[in-house]
Amino acid sequence: MKPSFGHIQIPNLLARLGGVISAVLGISVLTGWYTHNETLLQISTTVVPMQFNTALGFLLSGLGLLFVIGRHRGVGTILGFFVMLIGLLTLAEYILGVDLGIDQLFMQHYITTETSHPGRMAPNTALCFSLTGAALIVLGNSVKIRKSSMIVSVLGSLIFGLAFVALAGYAVGLEAAYGWGGLTRMAVHTASGFMILGVAVTSLAWYRSVSTSSLLPSWFPAPVGIGVVTITTSLWQALNSYNDQLVEQYGPIGAPSYVNHALLVIGIVLAAALSLTVFLAQAARARGKEAEAMNRRLAVESNERKQAEGEILRLNEGLERTVSERTLELEAANKSLQELDRLKSMFIASMSHELRTPLNSIIGFSSMIVQDMTGPINDQQRDYLQRVQRAGEHLLSLITDVIDISKIEAGKLAVQYTHFALDEVTSEALEGVDTEARQKGLELSEGIPAGIEMYTDRKRLLQCLLNFLSNAVKYSERGSIRLEARPFDEQVEISVNDTGIGIPEQELGLLFEPFVRLESPLKRHTTGTGLGLYLTRKLAREVLGGEVSVSSQFGKGSAFSLRIPQRMPSGQDDKERGSNDDK
Ligand code: ADP
Repeated sequence: MKPSFGHIQIPNLLARLGGVISAVLGISVLTGWYTHNETLLQISTTVVPMQFNTALGFLLSGLGLLFVIGRHRGVGTILGFFVMLIGLLTLAEYILGVDLGIDQLFMQHYITTETSHPGRMAPNTALCFSLTGAALIVLGNSVKIRKSSMIVSVLGSLIFGLAFVALAGYAVGLEAAYGWGGLTRMAVHTASGFMILGVAVTSLAWYRSVSTSSLLPSWFPAPVGIGVVTITTSLWQALNSYNDQLVEQYGPIGAPSYVNHALLVIGIVLAAALSLTVFLAQAARARGKEAEAMNRRLAVESNERKQAEGEILRLNEGLERTVSERTLELEAANKSLQELDRLKSMFIASMSHELRTPLNSIIGFSSMIVQDMTGPINDQQRDYLQRVQRAGEHLLSLITDVIDISKIEAGKLAVQYTHFALDEVTSEALEGVDTEARQKGLELSEGIPAGIEMYTDRKRLLQCLLNFLSNAVKYSERGSIRLEARPFDEQVEISVNDTGIGIPEQELGLLFEPFVRLESPLKRHTTGTGLGLYLTRKLAREVLGGEVSVSSQFGKGSAFSLRIPQRMPSGQDDKERGSNDDK
């Protein structure tokens, strides 16, 4: 943002105004020279006139400034060049003591008040024009705005300082301040014009370098310091030469005065202090602005956070609504599932009765006929009836397994925990497979430590052991089967080892899946459902609170183990899980 007062941008306005005043001043005095109007030239007949070249310089400076502001930089630069040329040539005349013929080039000098060389502008005026011309050239060619603005502002403050001292000299009657070393003096309106030009040039530099982030340019301390130093040194010079004049007129008066030098030192210190103060003030202001910006950012952030919180709250409410709707839906679904479950249990209960009763009749009566209890039968009839009997037994075991599995899955299997000795159950299990093993010429052995007391479901433990043992008999053609138990950590591991066909390693993982029967030469000759191991693992986990495992070597034999707690928690004593109908 450029510093502005309403819609007017102050530094820009000051620069334009300075340009206009300078041009008008130049034109007025030039007119005065052509019309012989001494008021315009001198203001008062006792003081020095503004020289023709000076008036020309002001006109060119003013126009140059206006062209630069109006973005006609090329024209501004050319005008600046001429202004600097006038100044530098005049200075050269003074320094080299020559007459280059420029003093009265355009106008024959006809006013002779207080001039050292007719028509020649004062040396400080020439210096001011050199600086003004330089400022215009820099302004017209600046690429790096920040750097060039600083140079221009320094030039502007020098011009202002020199003019200020001259004008102050007029105000306090210190001639040495506006007339250097008895040479032509700077006219009072020349001094005023340069003060205005100094301000205009500095303002333009200011206008061009203010950014959106700060009102004052960062180089601001430099022209302030240089302006004050210029004023101080010029005054010091003026006082010194005034002193010299006094000495010349009245001879040395007592001890030399150190006031002038003290003034110089104080002025320089003051300039440094002022620059530092401006610099610090700027830094503080910049920090203040940063803090303000930060505050604004924080306010925006906090606003955004509030909005986000509101959004989260709304989402939360929506979520809660959805959750409670879903909960209601789930409750309804749960109810209908419970109803389905009840129907399933009823179905299982009735099926177990309805299927097993006729099957038992089929098996029982066919067995009686096979044993010739109803009179003699021929060999073909015997063969067929034996097939009926085997098929019936297979079907019965399948139905029994399916019903057990369904009951476990429905949590309706009745469990009954009792105290018993482990070796009783293992003996019973071995007896169960004894006849079959003997028929196949398999040797049965056991290694069960006596005195292992159990508190668990005896019937289901026996069922598991029978499953393992009957499999061992089924899938072994020679060798032996050994039943062992090993108590540890209040648990017992019971394993059945056989020297049967074994199981390929890659198929071990399939064993406990439902309806899995592995391919083997024995598969066709043995009956099986593929549910035995699946049911055994379910019973081990969910009724006996343990786990099953298997290890096997293909072609050499297998070992199936059951690891269960010796005692189930007493709270589960005689636990009934649903229907008792698991006969
Ligand atoms: P099945 O009624 O077929 O015996 P199981 O679930 O008891 O059903 O056994 C699944 C399959 O695991 C059997 O078909 C058999 O291929 C294999 N298997 C089980 N026990 C043994 C064993 N001791 N030796 C070799 N294979 C066995």
